[in-house]
Amino acid sequence: MSTVLQARDLTRYYDVNQGFLKPPAQVKALNGVSFELQAGKTLAVVGESGCGKSTLARQLTLIEAPTSGSLLLDGQDAAQAGKAGLKAMRTKVQMVFQNPYASLNPRQKIGTQLGEPLAINTSLSSAEREERVRAMMKRVGLRPEHYYRYPHMFSGGQRQRIAIARAMMLNPKIVVADEPTSALDVSIQAQVLNLFMDLQDEFNTAYVFISHNLAVVEHVADDLMVMYLGRAVEVGAKETIYSRPLHPYTQALLSATPSIHPEDRRVKIKIQGELPSPLNPPSGCAFHKRCPHATERCKSEVPQLRELEQRMIACHRAEDINV
Ligand code: SF4
Repeated sequence: MSTVLQARDLTRYYDVNQGFLKPPAQVKALNGVSFELQAGKTLAVVGESGCGKSTLARQLTLIEAPTSGSLLLDGQDAAQAGKAGLKAMRTKVQMVFQNPYASLNPRQKIGTQLGEPLAINTSLSSAEREERVRAMMKRVGLRPEHYYRYPHMFSGGQRQRIAIARAMMLNPKIVVADEPTSALDVSIQAQVLNLFMDLQDEFNTAYVFISHNLAVVEHVADDLMVMYLGRAVEVGAKETIYSRPLHPYTQALLSATPSIHPEDRRVKIKIQGELPSPLNPPSGCAFHKRCPHATERCKSEVPQLRELEQRMIACHRAEDINV
């Protein structure tokens, strides 16, 4: 199995202007995130809104450069690639957004939009491009007559199929999907998730699947990375974490998620308070103000990721609270 994505200590800080005569502040949106992804596998990244998931997506899709850390796509280091190299790398990683309507050009026919990546990145003739576009449309469940239609003429589910088709046109190694089903009706969500999985089987594409919804992720993920305020707090195989979450934050998130196994009744754990501002994160463990197990040590010492029970976890007390 080949590694298509390696993130090492990815960090992204943003300078924020705080107003007249005030010094600029720094938001640590992503703080030393590392992982590997194999071809044909799915890493789900979960956490509340503001935890750094979308910042991570922008680094992985090369929309932004990280403040520090390294990113290897298909074995190639993005920082060393140069302008031409980055252009070539960008064809290997594509993105599917939460709102497909916003990512489609309302004034362009669907056939033209789907052919655009091929027109820009390949030397295929117009007839060859149309043939490829029509084949992909069929593959994602669109009909031939849709080729000439505009985005507003489609339902939300169909638009997401179009967005997925466009992401797949260049046969990328990696697709980063940022909340790809959260704007869809529940009845449509399962169809779109199945489409993702069918395409992965066929093209061996690796997915980074970003979601706040652990129920959605349970269907698609191989591995899971739980993020809190810019850091990974629990990372491992999906089965390992779903069957026995060890981090208090993961436990709370999972307890609020209806299980697909009816016999598995989870006791609901309520997380106190809101996600703190990344402009002014708490000292020590960033979760300590909301954690029912916090001690003095948690207030002053940042827990580092370490191995425990076949996963990586960042919690000082993981052993004590999971006896
Ligand atoms: Fe809770 Fe402390 Fe563990 Fe943070 S380090 S999750 S505050 S027990």
